[in-house]
Amino acid sequence: MTGLMAGKKGLIMGLANDRSLAWGIAKQLGDQGAELAFSYQGEALERRVRPLAESVGSDFLVDCDVGDMDALDRTFAQIEERWGGLDFLVHAIGFSDKNELRGRFVDTSLDNFLLTMNISVYSFVACAQRAARLMKPGGSMLTLTYYGAEKVIPHYNVMGVAKAALETATKYLAADLGKDGLRVNAISAGPIKTLAASGIGDFRYILKWNEYNSPLRRNVTIEDVGGAGLYLLSDLASGVTGEIHHVDAGYNVVGMKAEDAPDI
Ligand code: NAD
Repeated sequence: MTGLMAGKKGLIMGLANDRSLAWGIAKQLGDQGAELAFSYQGEALERRVRPLAESVGSDFLVDCDVGDMDALDRTFAQIEERWGGLDFLVHAIGFSDKNELRGRFVDTSLDNFLLTMNISVYSFVACAQRAARLMKPGGSMLTLTYYGAEKVIPHYNVMGVAKAALETATKYLAADLGKDGLRVNAISAGPIKTLAASGIGDFRYILKWNEYNSPLRRNVTIEDVGGAGLYLLSDLASGVTGEIHHVDAGYNVVGMKAEDAPDI
């Protein structure tokens, strides 16, 4: 198959189902000729991930909980064994106790603060360390963040703090790995109804607010995110690194409620 990603091999981490942001990205990479591997968290998800992987021509699946450094080592060892190298990495993983994604941030527990930072931030650093060893100049890495890193969004709480750290980690990784010709970027996606998002308190209100107040007057889709992911992972973005690229129907540029926005 020919296409923008022909001849490139990449690992997609964080696919749960066909509503996942990871799926929006994987689909467009596959359509453009990329060869894909998928890591999933535990056996229960394998049943959902395998048919999706097969639909983009992949039989390369690895069970990997990113909180387990041995599992990460095994994942990247399997990639090295099968492919000998890696061209791109998609990190679409975040986790926090949903009991703390409602109410007040000030009530965050130490245990959940550490867990959220570990799974949602450090895991990207841990993956980047291992991926970088397999990449040649031109390699590209991508993670997913949200506007709650920049401004306070009700109920996003500790996840907002984690996303702020993830965005800064993206910039530090870009600075370190740029010397090896590797690029590291993040997409700041607008709210999309996914499994992870359903854990956030009053998520429907956030969706409505974005729809009514963003310049495009709509919410974004996983296809919108996929298009931007394809660009950032392809050679079209060869001069782009350390970037936090908003795919949010323009919501981040708005300072006030739109005049025509209905009350919700
Ligand atoms: P999703 O539920 O489809 O994906 C989240 C993934 O994280 C799942 O596949 C889950 O298995 C994985 N995960 C969680 N803990 C893990 C662990 N310990 N080890 C391995 N995998 C683990 O939801 P999504 O919305 O597609 O989330 C993907 C990324 O996009 C997340 O970082 C999320 O914060 C980010 N994001 C989502 C939105 C949104 O509105 N949905 C907006 C901006 C950013």
